[in-house]
Amino acid sequence: MSNEAEIRKQMARLCASLFNRGFSVGTAGNVSARLPDGLLMMPTKSTLGAIEPDRISKLDANGTHVGGDRPTKEVSLHQAFYETRPEAGAVVHLHSTWATALSCLEDTDPDDCIPPLTPYVVMRVGTVKLVPDVRPGGPKAGELIRELNGRYGAVLLANHGPVVSGKDLLSAVCAAEELEETAKLLVALRGQETRYPTAAQLAKLKSTFGTT
Ligand code: ZN
Repeated sequence: MSNEAEIRKQMARLCASLFNRGFSVGTAGNVSARLPDGLLMMPTKSTLGAIEPDRISKLDANGTHVGGDRPTKEVSLHQAFYETRPEAGAVVHLHSTWATALSCLEDTDPDDCIPPLTPYVVMRVGTVKLVPDVRPGGPKAGELIRELNGRYGAVLLANHGPVVSGKDLLSAVCAAEELEETAKLLVALRGQETRYPTAAQLAKLKSTFGTT
């Protein structure tokens, strides 16, 4: 079990890695992790590319800011996952290009907005629900995620970007990357006849890996 100082360092390292590989630009996106006594959360107006471990915000179990810089305005997106998914140990929110492109398309299926193109997205991400987004940083998107009652490990905010949970930081980051790469494939394959895994193959994958 990692201690808080180790989790802070790991968060800074993984955030920089996401930024350096183009999964986030500017101050877009934020990452959080659950602690035994609260949450670690990206500070507001910070870039994933240069986060200092000691300045990462800390919230207590009631969501009160108790340490580090002021937390991101998108804090409710993260809290909604922790409150409804006991297994969630970390949450990654990105404005990554290809997933956000899919979130803007009129014909994206709101109940399955990242169709299961490869076994990996089924294993690491599961079914992704499209959540209508209203105002970045407002409470509404968090409320809409809470209303899903923890049925989805990842959601896509319409015209905004993905929010992905995982059992720990590395799992959440890998799932967010898998979601983004799958979105890229889906956009690349639009308009072309595409072979998806069969329903039987998907059922087997989901039961084996315990995803939704
Ligand atoms: Zn956002």
